Amino acid sequence: MSDRFTLDRPNLIISLDSELAWGFRDEKDLPEDKIKCARNSWIRILDLFEEYEIPATWAVVGHLFLDRCDGIHREHPLGKDWFKRDPGGTIDENPSWFGKDLINHILDSKVNHEIGCHSFSHVEFGSAKREVAESELQLSIEAAEKMDISLESFVFPRNNVGHLDLLKEYGFTSYRGTKPVSKDGGMIKNTMRKGGIFLDYFTPLSIDHSIVSPSVDEFGLVNIPSSFIIYGFRGDSRSNLENFVYDPVLLKVKKEIDFLSENNGVLHLWFHPNDLTRERDFGRLKNILKYVKEKDPLEIKTMKDVRKEIVERGA
Ligand SMILES: [Zn+2]
Ligand SMILES: [Zn+2]
Repeated sequence: MSDRFTLDRPNLIISLDSELAWGFRDEKDLPEDKIKCARNSWIRILDLFEEYEIPATWAVVGHLFLDRCDGIHREHPLGKDWFKRDPGGTIDENPSWFGKDLINHILDSKVNHEIGCHSFSHVEFGSAKREVAESELQLSIEAAEKMDISLESFVFPRNNVGHLDLLKEYGFTSYRGTKPVSKDGGMIKNTMRKGGIFLDYFTPLSIDHSIVSPSVDEFGLVNIPSSFIIYGFRGDSRSNLENFVYDPVLLKVKKEIDFLSENNGVLHLWFHPNDLTRERDFGRLKNILKYVKEKDPLEIKTMKDVRKEIVERGA
C-alpha cells in the first residue's frame, strides 16, 4: 500500500533522461542523427532553461560521469558483451559515450538544477537481475561522487521500474514512476507505447489524467509518476500532423498547465535531450517554458524539491 499526496499548490516538474548514445545501446542500428545532435541539444536545452530560469531534473546515465574507460567493464556483472557498443577510450575520442563536460555545464548553470541518476549503462531494472541492478547503482554513485555529486532521484531506463528496495539501500529517495490508475479505477492507457502518443494528445477526456499525485511507497521512497513525454516516443515516425503550423503537443501542454494552475498536484513532463533534433523541436520547448513562466501560481520544482516538501509535511 502507498499513500498518495496532493500538494498544496500546483507544481510542475520537468525531468530529462540524459543519455547521449547510451539510450540506443541495445538497438539494432544506432540513430546517427540523434546521437550527432545530442551534445549540442543538451547545451541548447540548458540555455533555454537558463533564459526562463526554470530548474529541471537531469537524470544522467552513470557512464557519462566518466571521462574515460576501458570499454570492457569487467567490474560489471553483464561483462563485455553488454558493453560491446561502448568504444572505451576518452571523452575527446568518443564524446557520445562520455559526458563530464556536459554535467559540468549543468552544475555551472545559475539555475538550480538537480542531477539525478538514469542507471549506469541503461539497463532496464524491471527485467534485470539483482546483482546487475546493484552494480548499476553502485557504479553510478561512485562515478558521480568523483564529481562531488550526490544522487537522490532515479529515473528508470524505459520507465521499467524494478528493484526499489535496492534504490532505498543505495540512498536514493525518489523515483519517477509510471502513470497512475485513473479516478474511475481503470488503468490509464500507456501513451508512451509506439503509435499511442498522438491518440492521447487529441483525447480531450485525458486532460485530468495528466496531473499526478506523488506517493510514498513501502520502502519510504517518494514515487513521482510521470504525466507524459513531450516528444514523440523514440522510433516513432513523426506524424504529418506535426507539420501543421499548430503544434498539437504544445496545445496539449498548455491545456494541462491551465488545468494544473487551478488544481493542486504535479504535472510531470519528461523527454530526452536527444529528442530535439530540428529547429521546431527547440521551438516547442521554448514555447512551453515561456508559457510556464507566465503562469501564476505555478511552482516549478525538481524531483528532490517535491520529495522534500512531502517529507516536511510529515508524510
Ligand atoms: Zn565504458
Ligand atoms: Zn533512457
